Amino acid sequence: MAVMITDICINCGACIDECPVEAIVDDDENPTGEEIYYVYADKCVECVGYHDSPACAEACPTEGCIQWSDVIDGMPANENRKSKGTPVVE
Ligand code: SF4
Ligand code: SF4
Repeated sequence: MAVMITDICINCGACIDECPVEAIVDDDENPTGEEIYYVYADKCVECVGYHDSPACAEACPTEGCIQWSDVIDGMPANENRKSKGTPVVE
């Protein structure tokens, strides 16, 4: 379970400080080399246990930039949303 940031990202930085598990890195640290922000899927817990909805997607000013990693269209809408995630702590 994780969200992903798509190439709609405008690098505004609104999401990064909202993440309770520090799963988001900026374009300088994106391991793919793309000049957009990036979510480490092995860290993201979809904010389960922290917020009622993904804080990064709430903060993001774009339409649909942050998506569930297995959903292509639209904003996050995960049928497994209520299942408990396992926070990964560095
Ligand atoms: S959904 Fe929550 S845990 Fe995942 S990257 Fe966004 S803010 Fe972080
Ligand atoms: S809030 Fe949205 S547009 Fe801004 S850096 Fe994060 S993913 Fe990119």
